[in-house]
Amino acid sequence: MKVQFWGAAQTVTGSMHMVHYRGKRILLDCGLYQGKRKQAYQKNRTLPFDPKTVDAVILSHAHIDHSGNLPSLVRGGFKGAIFSTSATRDLAAFMLLDSAKIQVNDVRYVNKKRKKKGQALFEPLYDHHHAAATLKRFRTVEYHQSFKPMDGVECRFHFAGHMLGAATIELNFDGENPGDEPTRLVFSGDVGRAKVPILRDPEIVEGADYIIMESTYGNRNHLKTVDATKVLRKTTKEVFEAGGKLIIPAFSVGRTQEIVYRLNLLAEAGELPEMKVFVDSPLAVNATDVFRSHVECFDDDMVNAILEEDDQDPLMFRDLIYVRKTELSKALNRLNEPCIIISASGMCEGGRILHHLKNNIGKENTTVLFAGYQAPHTLGRILLDQSKDVVKVYGEPYDVRCNVAKLEGSSGHADQEELLQWAKETCDKGNVKKIALVHCELEPAEDFRAQLNKRKLPDAIIPALGDEMPMP
Ligand SMILES: [Zn+2]
Ligand SMILES: [Zn+2]
Repeated sequence: MKVQFWGAAQTVTGSMHMVHYRGKRILLDCGLYQGKRKQAYQKNRTLPFDPKTVDAVILSHAHIDHSGNLPSLVRGGFKGAIFSTSATRDLAAFMLLDSAKIQVNDVRYVNKKRKKKGQALFEPLYDHHHAAATLKRFRTVEYHQSFKPMDGVECRFHFAGHMLGAATIELNFDGENPGDEPTRLVFSGDVGRAKVPILRDPEIVEGADYIIMESTYGNRNHLKTVDATKVLRKTTKEVFEAGGKLIIPAFSVGRTQEIVYRLNLLAEAGELPEMKVFVDSPLAVNATDVFRSHVECFDDDMVNAILEEDDQDPLMFRDLIYVRKTELSKALNRLNEPCIIISASGMCEGGRILHHLKNNIGKENTTVLFAGYQAPHTLGRILLDQSKDVVKVYGEPYDVRCNVAKLEGSSGHADQEELLQWAKETCDKGNVKKIALVHCELEPAEDFRAQLNKRKLPDAIIPALGDEMPMP
């Protein structure tokens, strides 16, 4: 019995870990590797195993770096079940279709260039037919309920506090042979944070023998003294007084809903200036509907907000408008009054946010407020670092004269201190023999391993692609 690491190994994206047991294979996550276009295309296209030989998939959450290559698996002949929580399945429905659209559009763009050069054309990684076929393979199981992906294995989902539907996965193996000791493997998924709005806090699984653990922020701590709602209050007031627009690039699923929730708190307290708020991303609009129907994932504050007599929808308030239609999105360019626009993509690599940036970054009364991680070389990162006076959007140059700020105090990932606490509690309540650190670049993972050693926690490995962790 062993785990083999096929993704998010010494890197953050492409989560994919194969459990080998009694001659069968269970895949934990099947995410897209995200990076430079050509490399990503090659990597995602060539799965390191035959999809037909995989017996079942267990999915930790719907983020594309965990779910986004499932359609390739199905396209390659995978015929088993994909187990997830119902919230994850409902979000994955929109996210995989959205991802299919991006795959098709990306290849169209690349092929235009290749055709001019007389080169062979690429095929999209997958299209919406493959995404739809993937959705048919989902089997949903609620948190804490037991399910059997195959004989001799019993599993459960626990709250991970990272995004709607996100789970830490508990896997219990009877043993390879009769009479063997049972073994418990815990896969953290992405570990969220306690006390973030909307979601229930992360849970600790007891009795772990082996852990696969994310360590994205293994070497960093978040600023905890900053309250994101207060930052929003201050920024909205300043933008309103300047008569400008507040542009917030945000990931459609998770971050957008959290910002709306915080703005709703301000609106209810009479602390939001009289300005319209637009959520301009079709995926965000669909995801918000999914959020509303998954009360089982909500913390007490969110449930109480729903039960309030006057305002039963914490994701809606008077001046908030969800924008689905392209015409209305375009009309925002002509709107000549202070307003807030929340749009995607979160790192400004595509999507409607580009139109809003193009039209507004040249104005001194515009503020762009970043609400999430900005990867190196993305337009979001260039703007955030204020490293250029002129940036390119759709190949055209635009002057940057706007204000730029970062929404501190809001993150979907546990930081170093919180990850150490998670590891310590899981080890204290178990009999842990080995920890595998994944979902992290090598350097921060090494820092985190040193921290684990310092606290006398069990030995950790940082697997490279294809490495194995025997159990035992
Ligand atoms: Zn995630
Ligand atoms: Zn992730």
